[in-house]
Amino acid sequence: MQISSKLPNVGTTIFTTMSALAREHNAINLSQGFPDFDCSPKLRELANHYINSGFNQYAPMPGTMQLRERVAEIISVSYGATYHPDTEITITAGATQAIYTALAAFINKGDEVIVIEPAYDCYVPAIEVHGGIAVYSQLNANDFSINWADVRSKINSKTKALIINSPHNPSGAVITAQDILELEKIISGTNILVISDEVYEHMAFDGALHQSVSRSAILKQQSILVSSFGKTVHTTGWKIGYVAAPKEIMNEFRKVHQFLVFVVNHPLQLALADFLADSENYQGLTHFYQQKRDLFLKLTAGSRFTPYKCSGTYFQLMSYKGISEENDTDLAIRLTKEKKLATIPLSVFYKNKTDNHLLRFCFAKKDETLAKAAEIICSL
Ligand code: PMP
Ligand code: GLN
Repeated sequence: MQISSKLPNVGTTIFTTMSALAREHNAINLSQGFPDFDCSPKLRELANHYINSGFNQYAPMPGTMQLRERVAEIISVSYGATYHPDTEITITAGATQAIYTALAAFINKGDEVIVIEPAYDCYVPAIEVHGGIAVYSQLNANDFSINWADVRSKINSKTKALIINSPHNPSGAVITAQDILELEKIISGTNILVISDEVYEHMAFDGALHQSVSRSAILKQQSILVSSFGKTVHTTGWKIGYVAAPKEIMNEFRKVHQFLVFVVNHPLQLALADFLADSENYQGLTHFYQQKRDLFLKLTAGSRFTPYKCSGTYFQLMSYKGISEENDTDLAIRLTKEKKLATIPLSVFYKNKTDNHLLRFCFAKKDETLAKAAEIICSL
């Protein structure tokens, strides 16, 4: 059979590739973003409880009301914004499905979507598979801030959506209140949809406020807020996330959602709803990961790598300009095989594979894992 691929340039994701290489070479895995420690025993107990209590059939299509109400509460507590659980919040199979569904629901052939680079890898294929066109704007190279003049210059009558991500994977940069004002100016009076990937929403460091689009009355009207419990409660393997958006937008989102997944894992939704009733279980995350970041920076301070400023997420960027001339992908592969340390090369987050000699290290790891990794890093 002759196959005409809808995604001819897409291979296997770098995260899958590097984690497989790490396993094959028994390397410490600071590549793919996931914790190497378990989620809370309380959360596991709750999951067992709901499985053993018979909640093993379909949940309601938009998610259990308990979890939708909990999400509304978290957004209200965190950002002072109101979303109605009935019509404005939907539980998804992780943020990846949420973003895919949002693009499927709104992007027609020939529509343009602004993607800010370096960009997380699931955005562009989900645009292109629906016939959309990704239009790229580069973050400023020195601090990974958004170049709003450039974003503005890329907007035209075909622009249908704009994807932002803060705290930002892979750079660890966060947007500021000023960025929100810039985005408001661009979006006001247009029909452009903002898809705001906020999966690291509870990991903004050094006292920074997470600038959720839901804080802005203007942006909230035209945005789909996307998040993931995988990051917030250390359960990347559960693949449960959520979206919040005004009713009219959510209505379109759900039309696709119901035929893409229909519903998401029922007992785990109930467990999450109970667990997150204690606000410390999400508000404590910033402190937890800020300590990890600080430990990682302290342990690697004697190395020849130069760290970038990490203001959020669980990723630390490091420049290896002082160590090697190799391209970043070759170096990441070689470090995995020879030094037993897996990382992610930054060039994979750019369409043109821009190589600024940067590697991304995931510090969502046990302190002893970070210590072992730091030993290798300091030996290079
Ligand atoms: N967006 C960003 C920026 C991410 O880093 C990730 C990865 N975890 C996702 C979306 C996808 O999240 P999920 O695992 O919930 O699909
Ligand atoms: N978001 C994770 C990362 O950036 C990976 C998730 C995945 O493997 N798709 O490392």
